[in-house]
Amino acid sequence: MPSSIKENLHRVRERIARAANRAGRSTENIKLVAVSKRQSTQLIREAVVAGQRVFGENFIQEAQGKINALDDLDISWHYIGQLQSNKAKIAADIFQMIETIDRVKLANMLEKHLTGNDQQLSVLAQINIGREKQKGGVLPENAEEFLEELQQYSHVRVRGLMTMPPFISDPEKLRPYFREMRQLAEQFAARGLFSDQGQVELSMGMSGDFEVAIEEGATLVRVGTAIFGAR
Ligand SMILES: *Cc1c(COP(=O)(O)O)cnc(C)c1O
Repeated sequence: MPSSIKENLHRVRERIARAANRAGRSTENIKLVAVSKRQSTQLIREAVVAGQRVFGENFIQEAQGKINALDDLDISWHYIGQLQSNKAKIAADIFQMIETIDRVKLANMLEKHLTGNDQQLSVLAQINIGREKQKGGVLPENAEEFLEELQQYSHVRVRGLMTMPPFISDPEKLRPYFREMRQLAEQFAARGLFSDQGQVELSMGMSGDFEVAIEEGATLVRVGTAIFGAR
């Protein structure tokens, strides 16, 4: 029999705790985002019953239907896909955090919409830490200027950084990228470039590499396959 979502979640949480322990960090500062893209609402319910509260989705239309169907549950939804400008308003309305802001234009659209609704929204700036042509995110060398531009907004609240490093199966080879992300986050925090509520968030690490990401400072890990199985 395949292992249940409850068992998978338990195992992932144990691995998170052990990685935190190795790094001398408290697990309280590390949040598990269960990535539920292409998974059914039934499986998401199972995860909620097993104590999971934060979920990540990549596709606006799919997420809209699922968030609607699960509105009886107390879930915090994170948007982790590439956000098109024409979907920005919907995303602001249905997600509690957008992790993938990488253009001023996008922030500007969100700010206008949120101002009209007298609402604030937590976002992360997505960094293209591997400088890959096909990937979304701001290049590391442009990140400071980008964050400075976001300072003008009062409804879009930048809480930290997010990255998708290059696709490499050996997690040890990703350590330098995670480390560089942490250094960037610390540097920008010291310059006051993040909104001052709560801890600075660093979203990095997926099923194959979340332990290394935690050792290097991740505060949000986005785990799909290790919880729900293959998509
Ligand atoms: C799909 C996805 C994940 C989860 O990946 P797994 O390998 O299934 O854990 C994490 N982050 C982003 C941005 C994703 O698109």
